[in-house]
Amino acid sequence: MDYFVAFVLGLIVGSFLNVCIYRIPKGKSVVTPPSSCPSCGERIKWYDNVPLLSYFLLKGRCRYCGERIPLRYPLVELLTAVLTLGVVWRFGFSLSSLYYLLLTYVLVVISFIDLDTMLVPVKLCYFTMLSGILFSFFIPEVSLKDSVLGASFGAGLILFIIETYAVFTGKEGMGYGDANIMAVVGAFVGWQKVLLALFIASFVGSLVGIGYILLKGKNLKAAIPFGPFLSIGGYATVIFGDKLLEWYFGGLA
Ligand SMILES: [Zn+2]
Repeated sequence: MDYFVAFVLGLIVGSFLNVCIYRIPKGKSVVTPPSSCPSCGERIKWYDNVPLLSYFLLKGRCRYCGERIPLRYPLVELLTAVLTLGVVWRFGFSLSSLYYLLLTYVLVVISFIDLDTMLVPVKLCYFTMLSGILFSFFIPEVSLKDSVLGASFGAGLILFIIETYAVFTGKEGMGYGDANIMAVVGAFVGWQKVLLALFIASFVGSLVGIGYILLKGKNLKAAIPFGPFLSIGGYATVIFGDKLLEWYFGGLA
């Protein structure tokens, strides 16, 4: 029952995240006006705005003009619901869940905006990082000090990689947006787990990169930004970080 509630809540939030992903890069408010069809401008009624279900009932088309609704909308809703389940599975119904759901939702928004525009929304990162630091006060998983150090270490690590890469190749490897994302992740997971997040991001990024070269014969670098991978690394660290570190260091002891 708890998981069902979490899943439905995730779907509803996912619907709102779609709005954020669409509007934030345009500098528009995410609260008003209500959603309308980008093609015909007709206001979307509440019964056509039910997460996941409406897409299938409408067969993926606008009720008024018949324009296709991108499959991404229901997919983002489903993804958000699944990620919500993961957090609730890990932390139960607790303040910690709220804390990490905030991170999760922002990472979803950042990832899709990064995919769409190759840009990372700075303001969103900044306020989320501050929230991560302030609210660390209320949860047992990360202390205020770990959080501040995590944000600094996360950003510093990426800046170091950017500068090192630039010094030796004269090119830009990662973007400064990636440093912003890792400042956010670091604020929530603490400095101890920032490296793990970056490691998972690089690992997943490499796998996808290799797959991309094999399938398309092209380098991934130009095609996909690194933000989504950092987000995957951050989320995986939140859910599995303790287990992974236990397993890794347990093997050494
Ligand atoms: Zn329409």
